[in-house]
Amino acid sequence: MDIKIVVILSVFVGSLKANAQTNHIHNTLLAINKYECEVDFDFANESLQATCKVEVTNNSNAKVRKLPFVLYRLLTVRDVKSDGTSLSFAQNIRSFEDQVRLQSNFISVGLKKPLLPNQSITLEMEYDGTLHGYTEVGWNYVRDKIDPNFTILRPDCMAYPELGYPSNKINKQFPKANFDYRVSVTIPDSLVAVNGGALVSTNSVNGQTTFEFKNVKGAWRMDIAIAKYGKVAANGLTVYYFKQDSLGAKKVLEALQKTIRLYTNWWGPLNNFKGFSIIEIPDGYGSQADVSSILQSASAFKDSTEIHQAYHEISHLWNVDLKAPSPRWEEGLATFIEYLTIEKLEHREYLNYVTDWFLQVVRREVANDMRLKTVPMVDFGKHGMTDYSYSLGMIAFRILYQTLGDEKFNHSLRAFYKEYSGKEATTEDFIRITKQVSGKDTSAFFNDWFFTTGYIRHLDRQSSFDEIVMTYK
Ligand SMILES: [Zn+2]
Repeated sequence: MDIKIVVILSVFVGSLKANAQTNHIHNTLLAINKYECEVDFDFANESLQATCKVEVTNNSNAKVRKLPFVLYRLLTVRDVKSDGTSLSFAQNIRSFEDQVRLQSNFISVGLKKPLLPNQSITLEMEYDGTLHGYTEVGWNYVRDKIDPNFTILRPDCMAYPELGYPSNKINKQFPKANFDYRVSVTIPDSLVAVNGGALVSTNSVNGQTTFEFKNVKGAWRMDIAIAKYGKVAANGLTVYYFKQDSLGAKKVLEALQKTIRLYTNWWGPLNNFKGFSIIEIPDGYGSQADVSSILQSASAFKDSTEIHQAYHEISHLWNVDLKAPSPRWEEGLATFIEYLTIEKLEHREYLNYVTDWFLQVVRREVANDMRLKTVPMVDFGKHGMTDYSYSLGMIAFRILYQTLGDEKFNHSLRAFYKEYSGKEATTEDFIRITKQVSGKDTSAFFNDWFFTTGYIRHLDRQSSFDEIVMTYK
């Protein structure tokens, strides 16, 4: 290549990057509140055709003139409208700046007039194309394709437009999505579409059936799976399964019922239970959880010791919302409960083994990430470090469990849920309740594990888990 062209090109790319850097700062305060999507499938041609209405709100204090979206690399936008009028937009297949193999269709929609602070706009985006997974990125579980044997629409394969740039670094700064959705999919009568929300209607015309779904709780992802699904249900719990796994499905449903009974026993009845479902997906597609359902790989339908992710997710139903920015320690609690439930329901010893394992994980994390030397667990959410809540939080909640004892631990959670469910609470509220319920002063423990990084001294001393617990008894 001519040197001049290289220079001109790199100056051009440099200015593009600088532009993206300045524009994105306000734009990461944009949020999607609502999706209304219609998707038609053509299995013979392995293609889909979609119309998605997306409501976007500007939560920044600046005017926004362009809205950025990412969509799967083999999906092409045909039209973007607002109030029935087509808008100008640009779309380009772009590699992520920090993950070259990850390519997406980057769409920039020009608005007729700027979106003012606190204003919302609804865009109607029409797009079509196919899905062919993201295995080239190293995401071996994203093998999504349009196939009558199994098809899935999900954010892992960017099957619907989301706000964002071709940059993981920038996209991480968007707040966690929280939206309502309505999705209808049209497929041949021989197939069934399922979703973790509520089925609103089905309508069959000329051998094609349209399934319409809506969310039952504020959602951060939409998943629609299509296959020859069967269904078993009881008391608001639903299991969607592949026909060959009907026996396993009954066992999964029983396990869900047992789990709900156990937790109700521990923490009291759920307020406002909107249902929970498990959707079977083939092995190798990666289990996922959203607010009211789990995509569960087929292995759990064949082996009942694989169902523990459901324990984790179901326990979240009893969580109290923590005031923003949420510390996110509920992930540590759910992880501890997941393993405690294995012991209680499956009658196999597991907690000691998994605690030692998580202690090693925490040791490694503290050695590898400097931030952990200064950022305490209550600030993990604020700093985008929630991944560490699972490991450190699991250890912390097991210490609390051992310190208070089984009964007072669960009684504390029960009282916390009763007082704050449907409201917002703080970590301090939780501490006050554990103190009230147990009559024990737990402040040394909470200081070391939640409010400071004092816990690190136990790691430095190579203390065993039992030795750590002893210091708080
Ligand atoms: Zn969780």
